[in-house]
Amino acid sequence: EQLTELSKDQLAAKLPELRAQLRQWGKEYYEQDAPSVADYVYDQAYAELVAIETKYPDLVTPDSPTQLVGGQTQGQLAKVPHEQPMLSMGDVFSLDELLAFNNRLANQVATEDLAYNLELKIDGLSLSLVYEEGRLVQASTRGNGLVGEDVTANVKTIKSVPQTLPEPWSLEFRGECYMPKAAFAKLNAQREANGEPVFANPRNAAAGSLRQLDSAVTAARELTVFMYYVPDYETFGVTTQVEALEKMAALGLPVNLDNQVVRTPAEIKAYIDRYTAQRDQLPYGIDGIVEKVNDLTLQTQLGATVKVPRWEIAYKFPPEEAPTVVRAIEWTV
Ligand code: NAD
Repeated sequence: EQLTELSKDQLAAKLPELRAQLRQWGKEYYEQDAPSVADYVYDQAYAELVAIETKYPDLVTPDSPTQLVGGQTQGQLAKVPHEQPMLSMGDVFSLDELLAFNNRLANQVATEDLAYNLELKIDGLSLSLVYEEGRLVQASTRGNGLVGEDVTANVKTIKSVPQTLPEPWSLEFRGECYMPKAAFAKLNAQREANGEPVFANPRNAAAGSLRQLDSAVTAARELTVFMYYVPDYETFGVTTQVEALEKMAALGLPVNLDNQVVRTPAEIKAYIDRYTAQRDQLPYGIDGIVEKVNDLTLQTQLGATVKVPRWEIAYKFPPEEAPTVVRAIEWTV
């Protein structure tokens, strides 16, 4: 491993190049919906940056990709400030790392009975839906976490998103907008037949389809959503993540109910194994498992860093084909 052999000065000299590479890939992925490299390539480079910044915290800069959420908003869509920031999520790449995360977390909380809700990590893009007195009034993307893009007209074309709720809630609901695998295959086949560039994966197809200036394009694209988060849970009257999911489902919001409350490493491993095996048979793409502290008061107590909540973590599936290690930049000096 060349990285660990380098001195702090040598690493510091290389950081601008590594950050520039990650920013470029981030721009392609978040803003242009057209990545030039596979996710694991990005993830490896990002993990290298995290490792260096963890070893030498004084090398962290406020504009480092480790400190910022997502990309910038697309110039032509109207901008929507988020009342509460829409954050990214930390990730781990093995069960051992996940259990180590849980041990650290268990040491920070007073409760003896720490329960987690495990959910599928839907491979789409985050979406915020604002209802006023039960009517859908605004939909926006995450954008840079503080300011997102107004996609209200586009989301109104998505059939599974209720325009009105059966009860007059004035609340924000968050979730994932995604394109089912079958719709993705159909869309790419059409695009290929028309000589248009195909989308790299369902996630990019969903993002490209949602972030359209002409909502007729979105309407033709077969998008759907799974909602999984209510920022103002107190107003909603729920105390756990599972209750939040169930109450949203009861209101007719699409919710993925393949979740499971777990407490032990064995239960966590069984869930991961089950969905690692079933992943290909699901009608939508998942890129991992999300683990969330089930108690919402505890979530609030744990809070968040500038970029990620401390009460949740993503376990990312290994890439489908065993990848060779790809270096974002040349480390030899
Ligand atoms: P992320 O997409 O990995 O994870 C956070 C997101 O998960 C949330 O914002 C939410 O939208 C989503 N999510 C899905 N199901 C969820 C659930 N059940 N509960 C809560 N959230 C759920 O994080 P990120 O910071 O947006 O992006 C990093 C990812 O993007 C990495 O996977 C990386 O590989 C990829 N990426 C790839 C490239 C590339 O060039 N290929 C570039 C940049 C980023």
